[in-house]
Amino acid sequence: MDLKTVLKESFGFSDFRPGQEEIIKHLLAKKHILAVLSTGAGKSLCYQLPAILFSGRTVVVSPLIALMNDQTAHLRSLKIPADKVHSHCHFRQNQATLNDFVKGETKILYMSPEKLMTEKVLNEFQKLPIEMFVIDEAHCISKWGAGFRPEYEQLSQLKKLFPQAVLAAFTATADKATRLDIVKKLTGNKSRIVVKGFNRPNIFLSVEPKQNWKKRLLEFLAERRGLSGIIYALSRKETVRISEYLNSKGFFCLPYHAGQSAKLRQKSQDTFMTEDAVIMSATTAFGMGIDKPDIRFVVHINLPASMEDFYQEIGRAGRDGKPADTLLFYGLQDLITRRKMIQSGEEDQEYKLREHKRLEALLAYCESSSCRKKTLLSYFGEDFDNCSLCDNCLSPPKRVEGTIPAQIFLSAIARTGQYFGMLHIIDVVRGVETEKVKNRGHHKLPTFGKGADHSKAFWEILARQLISSGSLNIDIERFGALKITKNGQDILYGRETFSYKEPNLPPAFKKEKKTKKEILERQKPEDLPLLSKLKKLRLQIAREKEVPAFIIFSDRTLIEMTNLKPQSLQEMLYVNGVGKQKLELYGEAFLNVIRD
Ligand code: ADP
Repeated sequence: MDLKTVLKESFGFSDFRPGQEEIIKHLLAKKHILAVLSTGAGKSLCYQLPAILFSGRTVVVSPLIALMNDQTAHLRSLKIPADKVHSHCHFRQNQATLNDFVKGETKILYMSPEKLMTEKVLNEFQKLPIEMFVIDEAHCISKWGAGFRPEYEQLSQLKKLFPQAVLAAFTATADKATRLDIVKKLTGNKSRIVVKGFNRPNIFLSVEPKQNWKKRLLEFLAERRGLSGIIYALSRKETVRISEYLNSKGFFCLPYHAGQSAKLRQKSQDTFMTEDAVIMSATTAFGMGIDKPDIRFVVHINLPASMEDFYQEIGRAGRDGKPADTLLFYGLQDLITRRKMIQSGEEDQEYKLREHKRLEALLAYCESSSCRKKTLLSYFGEDFDNCSLCDNCLSPPKRVEGTIPAQIFLSAIARTGQYFGMLHIIDVVRGVETEKVKNRGHHKLPTFGKGADHSKAFWEILARQLISSGSLNIDIERFGALKITKNGQDILYGRETFSYKEPNLPPAFKKEKKTKKEILERQKPEDLPLLSKLKKLRLQIAREKEVPAFIIFSDRTLIEMTNLKPQSLQEMLYVNGVGKQKLELYGEAFLNVIRD
């Protein structure tokens, strides 16, 4: 059968996304692959479709329990026999699932690596016609990757134990070193590597210094009233504070973090997935497996841990391909917190060094004065020309000569013994007589007050850029004291000059009007009541079946229904996202609402 027919009949989609068909054909030819696809590019379909066509069985290894549950529910809703074995399922249930798989009643089995890599299971599976092993989140196999898991390393035995099976590895985050490590371990370098889709042309990138961030956040959200989005914060407390603050300002914002009960989290997630204009203020506990197509913005209140994490998190915006915005607030205190988190971990020195480097790549992104898309994509190995979809391209920042202020700042650090953090140094250069300044006698230093003509904000920007340019280091062991590097000394003694980037402030957000207009064009106001009825029906069915609502139909599919208003089951099939299975299951019910 033609692949597109299978795509439509089984999944309800009319066309492949970039890279999907190529990967599917490669797998159907039983050749190993490592596919590095960006979040939302449609990885699951790349292995689910071949798995349906294979006469034998497929095992999907994943470390993410929520994802296993969602994918299994999704496949079952399409009448594809799928199941899962992981530590959150009851022992007896896992046993029964494995029996079904052995008997051939299940075609696609999702498993955690620990459950697969036991002697008993491996022995049993070697007797079965397993045609494919899918290694999801394959970067976990590599020590070079973000989130290395020792239990993933054992998956390197699969190639020997199952020589007949094709090995399909998928990940959304793997730099070059990680990719090479993955294919070496999994297939002895026998995988083809495909990198696709890191450029998300509809996502706007912007970074702002973290000053007056609450006010800026309100301005940002005021331009996006009625839209859904995520605000990421580092701490649980902060997520709660943000949600209280935004609710007091007339927004609807739910906090979400791992300290809440599973029930509350599920409830918040359901609300976010099914209702409009909900803002989630969340830690990174929120997001895995979130597949809401119309998330219109992702804001970071704190600095993420790395480029990979940042990319994953912003990747949740705009999955429907419509314009979406990202805003990262970047402040020095967050950088210190991140550095401390790395240093206080129990990992070895080599690991810590790598984490610091990964964080530095993100700093370079924050401080970049050139195209942010280019900086981001080059990190993932994709080439890119200037985009006009980032703040720097829209209003290129000016570089300003700043050797004298840099020397004042560096001199104050040197004269106070390289023992103090940024805020104290700023007080010294601005001539603020705090208790600390007086106690230490710093008001008698020659640099005291030499920089009084500049604001505190100016000095914060300068300090950050001295750090990101490698002229200053943050000494984490000494509670964030600033230390002068060789580079910094060259500036201090006049051997080098220093220029800084003037920060980009709000104008970059002018284009939001277009976003809203596009959305309104897409969802015609007169259709909104219908859309809301369709959503209600979806929620009702989802509750009955105890599955997340998007498994029934995505928002995008419902919007298409309101636009096309199909009048028969046949016409319903034209809606993207409606395949044969879903038509049979839900077609009539949704049609009735539309006809009404
Ligand atoms: P990820 O690459 O992040 O794992 P998923 O596999 O979860 O992405 O896919 C993201 C979304 O895109 C899902 O809702 C999926 O149903 C949808 N999708 C995948 N392939 C297609 C396609 N060819 N046409 C339309 N939607 C698709």
